[in-house]
Amino acid sequence: MEIALEGDVPTYSGGLGILAGDTIRSAADLQLPMVGVTLTYNAGYFYQMIAPDGRQVERDIRWDFSVDFGKVEAKVKLELQDKSLTVGAWQYTVVGRSGHVIPVYLLDTDLPENEPWQRNLTRVLYDASPFQRIVQEMILGICGVRMLRKLGYNDITTFHMNEGHAAFMVFELLDQFKSIDEVKRHCVFTTHTPVRAGHDQFDYGLVQDVFRDRLPQNAKELAGQDMCNMTILALNGSRYCNAVAMKHGEISRRMFPDYTIDHITNGIHMSYWLSPYMHALFDSELGAAWHHDYHSLEGALQLSGMEVWRAHQKSKLDLLDYEKSHSWVLLDEKLLTIGFARRVTEYKRPLLIFSDLERFAKIVAGKAQFIFAGKSHPADNQAKSFIKNINDFSDYLWNSYKVRVVFLGNYDMDLARLLVSGVDVWLNNPRRYREASGTSGMKAALNGVLNFSVLDGWWIEGAVRDPLAGWAIGPGPEDPDAEKKDDSVDVEDLYTKLQDEIIPIYRKNPDDWRNRMKHAIYLASFFNTHRMVEEYAAKAYRLEKQPLWKSLI
Ligand SMILES: *Cc1c(COP(=O)(O)O)cnc(C)c1O
Repeated sequence: MEIALEGDVPTYSGGLGILAGDTIRSAADLQLPMVGVTLTYNAGYFYQMIAPDGRQVERDIRWDFSVDFGKVEAKVKLELQDKSLTVGAWQYTVVGRSGHVIPVYLLDTDLPENEPWQRNLTRVLYDASPFQRIVQEMILGICGVRMLRKLGYNDITTFHMNEGHAAFMVFELLDQFKSIDEVKRHCVFTTHTPVRAGHDQFDYGLVQDVFRDRLPQNAKELAGQDMCNMTILALNGSRYCNAVAMKHGEISRRMFPDYTIDHITNGIHMSYWLSPYMHALFDSELGAAWHHDYHSLEGALQLSGMEVWRAHQKSKLDLLDYEKSHSWVLLDEKLLTIGFARRVTEYKRPLLIFSDLERFAKIVAGKAQFIFAGKSHPADNQAKSFIKNINDFSDYLWNSYKVRVVFLGNYDMDLARLLVSGVDVWLNNPRRYREASGTSGMKAALNGVLNFSVLDGWWIEGAVRDPLAGWAIGPGPEDPDAEKKDDSVDVEDLYTKLQDEIIPIYRKNPDDWRNRMKHAIYLASFFNTHRMVEEYAAKAYRLEKQPLWKSLI
């Protein structure tokens, strides 16, 4: 449903789209024969403003597809209810480091031959209405396959469903191949959420209404008896299925015990997310091979601590320049700066650090400052109230304690790039085991920023690979009751570590801090999409046994 191609091309909402974009960027660098399919949205996801009273305000984005994409002449049809809908496409080209090209096709219904309501079907990403949603998923899964055929892609060996959103392709391929075993031979599936509500399900009344007599006879066998469950449909239509981190694999197998589900831990595209200053440092100290050979970063501990620090300070100044021109809360570059930016939603517990405002203020006053950012889904009123709360806490903490907390508007890839390289510590405190992987912490680590995070998603693996790359908050997965513990257990550990370890080391022991920064960078030798794409190539696509980067050096 989303691929983040560029920061200011609004075809994405968050982590899922950014992972898709990084996957394609790495696949292009590693010269994989791949093509991407997604939708493009007239109003984007939304542009976020923060009103003077601290609430989120949403605006439609005004943009012209033809500025970013080339028009594709081919069109395909979708029978929808008792009408026919025409679906067109745009093309964006991702070019890898050595010139290898991966085209991305973006489907669009805003065509003059469609009725006005049909032209609006691709208006906005993650519309809350089930009708809009199911139709968008039909466009993605069914028209995606039809468009590829129309464009002459007749020898596709593997269709990779990135999340259940694309699973209607199983029905489409079944229509072509006539046998579910043949469909399975051609499909693989990646599930991206351990949260039950995150798995799309449609009422069969709605499914029947949109498909009419075109629904396969065995639809319920494939997609579930009670509800049309897109995850079940994708699982039943795939020869290989995977989750996106080790713990997420465990949870997915528990949720879907009848299926074999592997895991391939997510990554990030290193050169996309690395600050220009670190980039120059890596080039000069590690050599150009790191762009292909992620193992080069295992040498991160040999980098000069002073040079890593200098590069980071430049990134920090860039971030604070941006921050000061977008907020009335003026941050101070001498203070330890802690970032918290992600989709604003209940399970990420954005208010956890404010649990005891007086205690918090006493720990950080004159020593640390905070930058928050993130969008709430427009229909999620609880999440929207969190943004207002953070802004109210910011006023209170400044007025009472001169503590600086800023909330920056419109979190997107460009702001993320500044944040993950410019803060000193990256904070993440989700409710346990709701984070499939998380990738923003990987971006931070790559840039020498220390993670301070609940042991969930990728950080369970990261903290084991290198305990000096950051700090854990609260109990780990070895504690069988960790999930059931009250929030206060995490709050206590968060405040204690901030007060007794993080702030004192930052202020009094710069050598220790710089050493830890190198350990953070070391983690990127594993948590990157080059390694991840290689795992997909070997385990899911069955393409190569040899490391892909080896042939490029
Ligand atoms: C990386 C990124 C995300 C995903 O980060 P999480 O760790 O999953 O929260 C979301 N939004 C933006 C803009 C990002 O750059």
